[in-house]
Amino acid sequence: MNFLNNLTVNEIQRFSFDHTNVRGERVLLNSAYQDIIKRKEYPLVLEKLLGEFVAAIALLRDIIKIDGVLSLQAKGNGFLSTLMTECDEKQNLRGIVQWQEDQPVPETISLKDQLEGGYLVITIAPRNGQTYQGIVEVTGDTLAESLEQYFFQSEQLPSRIWLAANGVQCGGLFLQRLPEEQAKEGDEDAWTRLTHLASTVSEEELVGLETEELLHRLYHEEEVRLYDTKTMQFGCSCSRQRTLEAVLSIGAEEIRELLIEQDGIQVDCQFCAEHYAFSEADFEGLLGDQAQTH
Ligand SMILES: [Zn+2]
Repeated sequence: MNFLNNLTVNEIQRFSFDHTNVRGERVLLNSAYQDIIKRKEYPLVLEKLLGEFVAAIALLRDIIKIDGVLSLQAKGNGFLSTLMTECDEKQNLRGIVQWQEDQPVPETISLKDQLEGGYLVITIAPRNGQTYQGIVEVTGDTLAESLEQYFFQSEQLPSRIWLAANGVQCGGLFLQRLPEEQAKEGDEDAWTRLTHLASTVSEEELVGLETEELLHRLYHEEEVRLYDTKTMQFGCSCSRQRTLEAVLSIGAEEIRELLIEQDGIQVDCQFCAEHYAFSEADFEGLLGDQAQTH
């Protein structure tokens, strides 16, 4: 079901409920999401899972406001080995899934089962300042459950997240109860009532309805305050310099061997498929003692 009638919508929007201490975020993406999943031949079930990760990083980016890059990564030892999404301060999104391509693809994905002992890593990398990471064990079937756990651990704030994707669109909804001192004229039942109403949201509505319509369906009896929308898009932060730095991290000896064996080093960006080729001249002065190569 596509309620959007082929509109291009790649937006995130903050909202709050008057007279309560509850705030929210809503994200809905279509072409930005499609630009991410078309980079690789994903089975539909992985396109959907990656869509949930992309919607999640968009929400996280708007909640954890930093001038820099925020990434969400799931790592494990099962059918899925890595899922990674990233978003920067200009709302550039990218993401990737790595899985056991020689194994049959399950029809539905339980994050806990398919990651086998997996965990989520949330990395906050400000442009200026120290990078820090939050780690949370994957204990539930869905990404949303693990992220709710993360918010409870890191901010001690009750938070609820709903995520959905269908290979064409992905969407998410986030609600958070702010500390009591920020409550306006105490509406004690607000959190229970607002999360209960949000729990009635269907996957079709999450990926198919524009924000105002979705919030109206869920909350037509509440006073919802909407803030400015921000546009998001696919964008890759790779560059020739960053790729060269990544190659250098494998060590001088290995690089020298590759240069001799393969007459150069070829690297394809996994996120955007950009091709980078490096020859011996690119490494001049970068491999320490050059005596062995000549
Ligand atoms: Zn790239």
